[in-house]
Amino acid sequence: MICEILCVGTELLLGDIVNTDGAFIARETAALGFSSYHQTTVGDNPERLREAVNLALSRSDVVILTGGLGPTCDDITKNAVADAFGKKMIFDEATRADIEAYFRRVGRPMTENNLSQCWVPEGATVFYNKWGTAPGLGIEGEIGGQTKYAVLLPGPPAECEPMFEACAKPWLARLSDDVIYSLNLHLWGIGESAAESILRPMMESSENPTVAPYACEHEVRIRVTARARTLEEAKALCRAKADEIRQTDVGEKIYTETDNPFDAKNAVVTTLIGELRRRGMTFATAESCTAGMIGSSVGDIPGASDVFVGGIISYTNDVKERVLGVPHETLETVGAVSEECAAAMAEGARRQTGADIAVSVTGIAGPGGGTPEKPVGTVCFGVATEKGTHTETRHFNGKNDRAKIRRLTTANAMMLAIRTLRGDLAP
Ligand code: ATP
Ligand code: MG
Repeated sequence: MICEILCVGTELLLGDIVNTDGAFIARETAALGFSSYHQTTVGDNPERLREAVNLALSRSDVVILTGGLGPTCDDITKNAVADAFGKKMIFDEATRADIEAYFRRVGRPMTENNLSQCWVPEGATVFYNKWGTAPGLGIEGEIGGQTKYAVLLPGPPAECEPMFEACAKPWLARLSDDVIYSLNLHLWGIGESAAESILRPMMESSENPTVAPYACEHEVRIRVTARARTLEEAKALCRAKADEIRQTDVGEKIYTETDNPFDAKNAVVTTLIGELRRRGMTFATAESCTAGMIGSSVGDIPGASDVFVGGIISYTNDVKERVLGVPHETLETVGAVSEECAAAMAEGARRQTGADIAVSVTGIAGPGGGTPEKPVGTVCFGVATEKGTHTETRHFNGKNDRAKIRRLTTANAMMLAIRTLRGDLAP
C-alpha cells in the first residue's frame, strides 16, 4: 500500500506553524507498513487543494489529509475529497448529535456554522472527535477503476494525534497485510559514530529486522524494525536481534528499551521513575541553570507523584545559601558553578525535602557569563543519597544554544540519578 500525507494550511506554507502532524502521521503510517513516496503541503486555496488531492489519489492508494476540517469557511478539504471520489455530501444526524453533546460537555453555546461539520461524503466512516468538534472521516471508493482510500483529520495536533490513534489507525490497519514493529535500544555514554562502527556488520547483514542508529540530542538509539504477518512474530524477530546487539560492545551502554514514540521521547525520565519506584525511593531536585526543567520533565509522566517529592529552584546565590545551606565561603571562593556548590545543593535539597535521593545542577547556560576556566556549557552536577554525595562536571558544546544546554543538563542530571540508583558510579 502506498500512502501519501497531504497537509492543508497556508500557515504551514508561511512557516507560522511547524508541520508536526505530517511528522507524526509519517511515523505512524510507516509503523503500519505503508510505503511513502510523497508528502505534500498545500495552502487553503480551493483550486490548488483540488489539484493536490487528485494528484495524490492518482499516485497513492491511501491519502491522509490533515487540517481544513473546521467550521470556518476556509475549511474546504472535505469538499475537495468528496468531489475527487465523486460522492455527494449528505447531512449526518449522528454527527450533529455528537457535536451538540460536545458543546454541552464544555458548556459553550454551539454556533450555526458548526453544523457545516455535519455534512459528510455519502458512505464515509465518521470518526467522532472526543477532543474537539470537527469529525474526521474515512472514505473508500473507486477512482479510475482502482480502490482508493482517504482519511481526513483535524489540524490541531491535540485532536489529530489522538484521533489517528483511536480512529484512523484501526481503519487503516485492515489495509495492510504486514505488521511493522520497532524496538528502540537507548544508549548512554557512547556517540553515534562509535555505536555505528561496532554495529556496522550487523546493520549491513540484517534485512528483517533492520538495524539503524539514530542520534538524538542527548543520546543515541538503535532502532530494530521487523516486518511480519503478526505482531507476535514481529516482536519475536526484534527480541532476538536486540539480544544479539546486547552481546556486542554497545550492549553495556543500553540503559533501556522502548517500543513507542511517547516512551522513546521520555526514556530517561521514565527509566528514572521506574528505578525509584522499584526501590520505593523518593526523589528531589535543586536546580540552578535549569530553573525547574528537571522537575517539569518528571512531572510530564503520569503518576510521578509516587516518587517525586519536589524541588528547589535556587537561581541566585542567596537562595542557594539560605534555602539549601550552601556555605557562604564556597560561593565566595570556588563560586556557584563548582562541584562543591553542587554537592551542598544536592545535600540541602535532600535535607529540606526528606527525599531519599536528590540531584543538583549548577552551570553556565550562556550565551553570556562564560570565563576561560568555566566556559559556557560548563555544568556541575551533584547527587546525594544516604550513602554519600557524588559530583561531576560536564562541558556541553552549544555556545549559542542556551535551551539546548539546559535540555542536555536535564537529561544528564536524571541519568546521574539512574546510575546512582543502579550502583553504576565509580566510588
Ligand atoms: P479547526 O476545527 O480548529 O478549524 P481544522 O481541521 O480546520 O481545525 P486548521 O484550521 O487547518 O484545522 O488548523 C487549525 C490549527 O491546527 C492551526 O492553526 C494549527 O495550530 C494546527 N495545525 C493545522 N495543521 C497542522 C499541522 N500540519 N501540524 C501542526 N499543527 C497544525
Ligand atoms: Mg480551521
